[in-house]
Amino acid sequence: MTRRNVYLAQVNYQFGRNAFLPYSVGIIQAYCEQIPEISENFEFVDLMFRRTDPDEVASNMVDPAVLGLSCYIWNWEYNKALAKSVKAAHPDCLIVFGGPQVPNNSADFFDTHAYVDILVHFAGEIPFSEILLQFLQRKPDFASVNSLSIRQTDNSSLKSDLRPISRDLETIPSPYLCGVFDDLIQDARYDFHASQETHRGCPYACTFCDWGAAYFSKVGIFPDSRLEAELEWFGQREIELLYNCDANYGILKRDLDLTYKLIETKSKYSFPKSFRAAYAKNSNDRVFKIARSLNEADLCKGVTLSFQSTHEETLDLIKRSNIKMDDFSALMRSYKDENIPTYSEIILGLPGESYDSFVDGICSLIESGQHGSINIYPCLVLPNAELNDTDHRREHGIKSIPVPLQAAHSTASENEIAENCDIIVETATMPLADWRRAYLFGWTIQCFHSMGLAQFLAIYLNAAENFPFRTFYEELLDFAEARPHSLTGKQVALISQVIERVLQGGSWDVLKPEFGNINWPPEEATFLSLVCHKDALYDEVTEFFEDLVARHEVAVSEEILRDLISYQKAVVVDPYASQEIKVPLHHRLPEFFGLASAGKKLRPVSVENGVALEIHSEAAFEGDLAAYAKEVVWYGRKKVRYLHTNITTSLPSVVASQRQAAF
Ligand code: SF4
Repeated sequence: MTRRNVYLAQVNYQFGRNAFLPYSVGIIQAYCEQIPEISENFEFVDLMFRRTDPDEVASNMVDPAVLGLSCYIWNWEYNKALAKSVKAAHPDCLIVFGGPQVPNNSADFFDTHAYVDILVHFAGEIPFSEILLQFLQRKPDFASVNSLSIRQTDNSSLKSDLRPISRDLETIPSPYLCGVFDDLIQDARYDFHASQETHRGCPYACTFCDWGAAYFSKVGIFPDSRLEAELEWFGQREIELLYNCDANYGILKRDLDLTYKLIETKSKYSFPKSFRAAYAKNSNDRVFKIARSLNEADLCKGVTLSFQSTHEETLDLIKRSNIKMDDFSALMRSYKDENIPTYSEIILGLPGESYDSFVDGICSLIESGQHGSINIYPCLVLPNAELNDTDHRREHGIKSIPVPLQAAHSTASENEIAENCDIIVETATMPLADWRRAYLFGWTIQCFHSMGLAQFLAIYLNAAENFPFRTFYEELLDFAEARPHSLTGKQVALISQVIERVLQGGSWDVLKPEFGNINWPPEEATFLSLVCHKDALYDEVTEFFEDLVARHEVAVSEEILRDLISYQKAVVVDPYASQEIKVPLHHRLPEFFGLASAGKKLRPVSVENGVALEIHSEAAFEGDLAAYAKEVVWYGRKKVRYLHTNITTSLPSVVASQRQAAF
């Protein structure tokens, strides 16, 4: 008997040679193939994961009976183009869309997407298998399958009842262990990353998130034995990056044991080399232990201590509660003591947030010791998130615009089908002009504080003179803006153009071919532009600093100013620096910044005969801009690679005058 061909697609961006194994469709195949009636009657021909030209894909298909596409924000437009091409070339092929991007409200969907036959809502394994079983019937009754929207002959939508949520995941086999990826992984053109799902669902209900839907609120777990066997599979197949796709890794007690098993796998096979996860919201002691173990095993790329907002009213509106700032400061100290990088996320444009609350929120994180990564994202409006509810939007004056998706670090391609998303650019509490300014402030913080270009100057003023971070960075932005022909002024002008381009529906990404064929987020593009011109940059920064302290009547001696600029300039890793750097100083700045970064108010100790700052760099890039950009910025941002860490001071010949005074 001839089997019918099933094609499954879960396409994603490619990052150089790196590509993700298509887990979401792989697990659907694994589930379906265990059902004898399906495996006897269907052949799963191909798992598509690349953004290949849709017409080419369609013309290469052989008698496709069913095409299933996993849809999310990064492949929605591509999937629609592919479905259209396939329907045109193979009109009898049943086209099924599933995944988080499929709109819950499908009433008008088929009016404009008549090339799609069926939508699957929420988890796809069982509905897709039942669609295949119906397909075998002489008169398929797709309406008898739960959780579907089915296109009718007049392109209206017939929605079947939602399948009651089941958290029994034991019946869903692992695509890794079932051999679904065994052929794909042999393809020598790619270095595959893998995704692992240890549990499903999220008990929280953040309104901006599509996991916040009540349907996903129950957490179901995959069995330990399966997960441990998958880890073996990853180790044996030399998977370099393991991406954990749980909503809250570390929320379950067993997550610590799974982490130990992962570490054991790495020590056995030397793979996986890197592990990424979205850690449990309101990070706890278990997450800390997980992060410490991963860090010791060199598997951790940093831990998210997420906030999204620090503004109480906004947190109420988005149904989120964060840890208290005092607890956050203590947590930051614990992570710092263990040398574990942390990063915090803030969303721009949430309801209830104003320019002031947004800027103050970022600065409160810095004051609590978050000098590493603060990642600021414009608020996306996901189709199935509560934030997208019409009444909610009206109530909070939410205005969003469609813009191309920011595919940070993806390979730049001219013939790409652009993916889009809606971002909020105005709310009742943040008019558009404030949104623009807030974006620029966030860009200033990310580039100059989090990525370190002016961090030590700001920390000095805050620790020694109680000078607010907000004033420092708002005035740095004003300074640059007022000098449009300066190095920093040109960057503000460029980013302002990017903002205007985005507001017209254009792209966020900045191309800098000298740093590789990669789409750079704006703050990284600025960092790269400035770090290559350190002399000119720090001449401007010195001018700014002198002007700032003079206007605010803050006394900073010439000697300390020179030391601060020398220190600041030396500790930022640049593409031209030699491996050994020596800088004469008059103050014990490394010790000072160790305490000041943790929030202590103090002044640096001066050393009578001076002291030499000695930096030993792990790598010298000798002007190789592409290698520098990849190692230090792309891969290294979350590990804070843009700042030297191996910093010592040579012993002074004369004992320092003990002028360190807490106040
Ligand atoms: S943002 Fe995270 S914690 Fe909030 S609902 Fe989504 S997955 Fe859950």
